[in-house]
Amino acid sequence: MVAMFGDDRGNDETSSISEAGRDRAIGRLSGEFVSPVLETVFTWERLPETLRHARLLMIGSAILNTLFLASDWRFHGTPHFFVAVPARLVTIILAIACLFVLGRIRTPRAAAMTMAAWMAINGVAVGALVTSHSSIALFVVVMLPMIYYLVTPTRFDVVVGGGVLCSVAMFIGYGEYAASPTTAGGLALALVMLNCALVLVVSRANRLERLQWLAARSERRIAAELAESRETLERMFAASPIPLVVTDRDSGRVVKANTACAGLLGRDPLTDGGTLEPFYVAPGDRDQLVAMIDRDGQIGDVEMEIRVTDGTLRTVLIKANAVSMPQGRRIMAGMIDITDRKAVERSLEWLASTDALTGLPNRHSFMSSGKLAIAIAARSSAPLSLLMLDLDHFKQINDTWGHQMGDRALQAFAELCLDHLRDDDIVGRLGGEEFGILLPGCDAETALAAADRFREAIEHIAVDPEGDGPCLTASIGVTVIQDDEADLERAIARADRALYEAKRLGRNRAVLASVPAAARVSALN
Ligand code: GH3
Ligand code: MG
Ligand code: MG
Repeated sequence: MVAMFGDDRGNDETSSISEAGRDRAIGRLSGEFVSPVLETVFTWERLPETLRHARLLMIGSAILNTLFLASDWRFHGTPHFFVAVPARLVTIILAIACLFVLGRIRTPRAAAMTMAAWMAINGVAVGALVTSHSSIALFVVVMLPMIYYLVTPTRFDVVVGGGVLCSVAMFIGYGEYAASPTTAGGLALALVMLNCALVLVVSRANRLERLQWLAARSERRIAAELAESRETLERMFAASPIPLVVTDRDSGRVVKANTACAGLLGRDPLTDGGTLEPFYVAPGDRDQLVAMIDRDGQIGDVEMEIRVTDGTLRTVLIKANAVSMPQGRRIMAGMIDITDRKAVERSLEWLASTDALTGLPNRHSFMSSGKLAIAIAARSSAPLSLLMLDLDHFKQINDTWGHQMGDRALQAFAELCLDHLRDDDIVGRLGGEEFGILLPGCDAETALAAADRFREAIEHIAVDPEGDGPCLTASIGVTVIQDDEADLERAIARADRALYEAKRLGRNRAVLASVPAAARVSALN
């Protein structure tokens, strides 16, 4: 009996149920799942509904049989009265008892057992009742198997077993008084046909019920998976450390922005109008980005300055893609804040191109600026002159006043350069106390005059404003860069030669290296 009604709770196995077609196969006759696991899951899921139907059936049975009990009084005074009343009482008491039991049932197996017991006892009792052989009894003979098959909410084997047993009981009860063997044969045939038809009906109903359940189950699973993947996406978008923002291509309206984006911009761009317009520095910035996306379908690494909520400018690297959505064309953009990186790059550039002691451009920077100045001068046919300058007796200054005073002298000289030179002029510290100065627009005459003025200014540098510090003088070699001279090194070498000549002639003077004529000397002592 236990094996017959055995149904272990299948919830633990639910997750392991493969939804492959063969596991969802439905038995041809029973209309139930072939897989015991799946059938168990199904019956467990339907248990509350099964119990509700079973209770309604018991209530209906109790009420109807009570009504019939009143009509059974018509047999009063006949022998059948003593069969009908006890049998009717059995059906009523049985229905009430089952109703009570059903209220305490927690498993499909117990429900099936209760239904089987009710069908068996009720069938026997009604079998006794139909021995009245009345016309109502004939009606019941057909009616009760139908109720068993169609209304009893239980398993196929229980339904069929109950239905067949009930039909046999009806046949025995009613057929016992059958007028003739022909009537009994006809009744038997009718009951067989009824059972066959009802088995088919139950089979079909079972099949439809299970197909419906499978469809609802798949729908629930798909909806859950969709909700889960949507939530995963939302969470990943929100948690992305890279600022992400989705905007509508046409209106510029912000559709979505993550926490990192709000952090970068200083507030959630979805609030206050929900556009990125307040963050663009120039009015046409967005149009430019949209034009690039329209052309290439994406933007890769575009650097742009934005103004964030506190008013500061940040440099961001933008990557963006166009995405076609059912709601319209969207632009999905990621921004990387490179403001700090840019600052580091700038300071590294400055360090690489600047002399640390004087703050003047170093040799490398001077040479690259010089090449550019030569190219510009060649294109504009404007003259360009070069001064090579060396401080006189600097070793002596160090020896006499100390290295620190020597450093201060170099810094004072650098300040003088910045004060005296024009914006276009290019100065650089080429070595210890050697400097190069490029004078765009100056020919030999003006360059030599400028060198002299500069040399005089050097004499007035107060290296130590508080004390009796060293006096500086400088020797200067001057040359004009030739039209065909692409190489700054050659001009430097020529100016160097003029510089040595100035040293040789006694220092504190500027000497013009005339090309190819002999150097023109401007002695100012
Ligand atoms: P001259 O008139 O022939 O140019 O003589 P000089 O002593 O200036 O030339 P020299 O090349 O013999 O000496 C250059 C000196 O400059 C030697 C070096 O110690 C000094 N010097 C170079 N760089 C620095 C610096 O950064 N700080 C200081 N304090 N001295 C420096
Ligand atoms: Mg020197
Ligand atoms: Mg020197």
